[in-house]
Amino acid sequence: RAKVGGRNGLVVFSRDLAEVVERRVAIEAHLKNALDRNELSLAYQPKREIGSGRLTGWEALLRWQSPKLGMVGPQEFIPIAEQTGLIVPIGQWVLRNACLQLRAWKDLGLEAGNIAVNLSTRQFRQKDLAEQIAAALEDAGLAPGDLELELTESLLMDNLASAAEVLARLEQLGIRIAIDDFGTGYSSLSYLKTFPIHCLKIDRSFIQDIPADENDTAIVRTIIALARSLGLTVVAEGVETEAQLDYLRANQCDEGQGYLLSRPLDPDACTRLMRAGVVAA
Ligand code: C2E
Ligand code: MG
Ligand code: MG
Ligand code: MG
Repeated sequence: RAKVGGRNGLVVFSRDLAEVVERRVAIEAHLKNALDRNELSLAYQPKREIGSGRLTGWEALLRWQSPKLGMVGPQEFIPIAEQTGLIVPIGQWVLRNACLQLRAWKDLGLEAGNIAVNLSTRQFRQKDLAEQIAAALEDAGLAPGDLELELTESLLMDNLASAAEVLARLEQLGIRIAIDDFGTGYSSLSYLKTFPIHCLKIDRSFIQDIPADENDTAIVRTIIALARSLGLTVVAEGVETEAQLDYLRANQCDEGQGYLLSRPLDPDACTRLMRAGVVAA
């Protein structure tokens, strides 16, 4: 067994840290040009009604294929985009692109449902957010009801002073608001009754171990009941097994999303899926 001295520990630690810093610097440097160089794209993951299998909409998920770094996941580059402010132009691009994609599907006569776009804190803080959204909808010839915005609880808690006003403006426009990763944020529930929210998305971590884990089933049933009594649509994220889907169906969860139903797909694959009219179990 190797003896680990303080010196060695320190050496190992600094090498790891150096790697982390190097990776971050590289991502930042390459991300700056990713938009101009057409390296970003959107994948779309369907949401379906659990009872009927009916397609209710698509969530847009950012993908970055960097010629230098390869495929970089949003979990890794979105926080860096957020810290550097790059998320503002990138987020604009996502919004406009997702709206144009839904327009294209409508033009093909496909019943695509609505389009959901994720927003981060920095985007939420833009003064002209509502105007940007209204313009994106108008340019794509969409109705406000065609768009859903996914916000996290921590985003709302970090922006408590302005959140009510921003959400009221979005509500006036007629846009749907979903709370993403619901249950993971450190927050009070009181905002649910004061803010104009339409949908709760139960975080994947609570879905993962149902129906076996009794704590998780209790939490999932409670969130479904909470949504029901507040008149909100409830969506389960990260559905991967038939057993999970059965449990959610038996407990009247409205909608589901997850690898069992479909992985995020490129737009052509989405089109094919809608044309085939595939209804998942
Ligand atoms: P999210 O909004 O909670 O999106 C769900 C994530 O779970 C996606 O990861 C999706 O691919 C993944 N997922 C879906 N079904 C399953 C499943 O059954 N099992 C497992 N293990 N995972 C599943 P992805 O695409 O890597 O995105 C990660 C996060 O990055 C998103 O979480 C969202 O917070 C953020 N993100 C993605 N696109 C955007 C964007 O355009 N703007 C902003 N601000 N954030 C984005
Ligand atoms: Mg989301
Ligand atoms: Mg989520
Ligand atoms: Mg998430």
